[in-house]
Amino acid sequence: MSKGSMKAIVKTEAAPGLSLVDVPVPEIGINDVLIRIQKTSICGTDVHIYQWDDWASETIRTPLTVGHEFAGVIDAVGSDVEDFDVGDLVSGEGHIVCGHCRNCRAGRRHLCQTPNAVGINRDGAFAEYLMMPASNVWRVNPAISPEILTMFDPFGNAVHAALSWNLIGEDVLITGAGPIGIMSIMVARHAGARHIVITDMNPYRLALAKECDATIALDVTDGTIAGAQAELGMIEGFDVGLEMSGNPAAVNDMMANMAHGGKISLLGIQNREAAVTWDDVIFKGLTIKGIYGREMYETWYKMTALIQSGLDISPLITHRFHYTEYEKAFEVMASGESGKVILDWTE
Ligand code: NAD
Ligand code: ZN
Repeated sequence: MSKGSMKAIVKTEAAPGLSLVDVPVPEIGINDVLIRIQKTSICGTDVHIYQWDDWASETIRTPLTVGHEFAGVIDAVGSDVEDFDVGDLVSGEGHIVCGHCRNCRAGRRHLCQTPNAVGINRDGAFAEYLMMPASNVWRVNPAISPEILTMFDPFGNAVHAALSWNLIGEDVLITGAGPIGIMSIMVARHAGARHIVITDMNPYRLALAKECDATIALDVTDGTIAGAQAELGMIEGFDVGLEMSGNPAAVNDMMANMAHGGKISLLGIQNREAAVTWDDVIFKGLTIKGIYGREMYETWYKMTALIQSGLDISPLITHRFHYTEYEKAFEVMASGESGKVILDWTE
């Protein structure tokens, strides 16, 4: 039963750029739902796909509808779907897991051996409708606005990375003040951290980080993390490090400024040649955890509870566009002079 055609933002050929085109509304299987998209937000990954860098050209098969940060309303449900009804406000987990591997069967779905990603390996959410398995859909309290919900995907990265460690009364170093780094400030603050130092070299983002309650937002072209420690009267180094820049220099800066026994989440994606100061890892007894995605669905419960207990991530939204203005939206996002950029699909 086809529902006709819809507008979608599509990588139509293996080259830079994206096109707004008409494509068929996806058909749903018995375990799927169809979601009418209300709002989406743009991720750095979408910008890589737009720009068609090495990673994108190796990973993406065209044609592909892009996008994975979304909120919408259930429009249709497959015959075997019991948990959702037409009209439910939802977001969804963009990692579609296999369901068969050891980790999936043990309930550790974020560690699935062969996950597929919405908007990367299968059609995504920058469209009037998105189809996904009901098991990936997250129903939310309608008191949480669709704009906030679109950010649950990157917010979940921040929550997963930050809440991997005890933060109460601890000193936290975050390298990289992109959207995920800035949301991590908010999570660490909400969770009771003492000093939160965040680094970047982009003045726009450092100013936003400061507004979002960093203790110090440090420009690494102009000062050192050791200097920030001294300013705060810290003696033994940071207890928790959250690497959210993807820059190898930031990783080594972090290692050098950790306390002995410190804990590190690595979220930023490093290039393959990135070198690590192993002496710091070994002689300081550091614990390093790689973070991919969100825990299914523990992180989603935590995000909901954090928002319901007063954590407000809305200051991170700096731009809003209608989806037909997606070129402008991608330009702003690529400029680095933005927090989150929202696309509206409701009209
Ligand atoms: P982003 O690219 O918007 O932000 C990264 C920031 O790091 C930029 O503001 C940049 O100026 C800054 N930076 C660069 N070099 C630096 C240095 N030496 N010191 C301090 N800051 C530096 O990214 P984002 O969307 O916030 O995501 C953060 C990182 O996490 C990216 O690398 C992204 O690819 C990665 N990511 C990983 C996952 C995962 O599941 N592991 C999910 C989403 C994003
Ligand atoms: Zn699996």
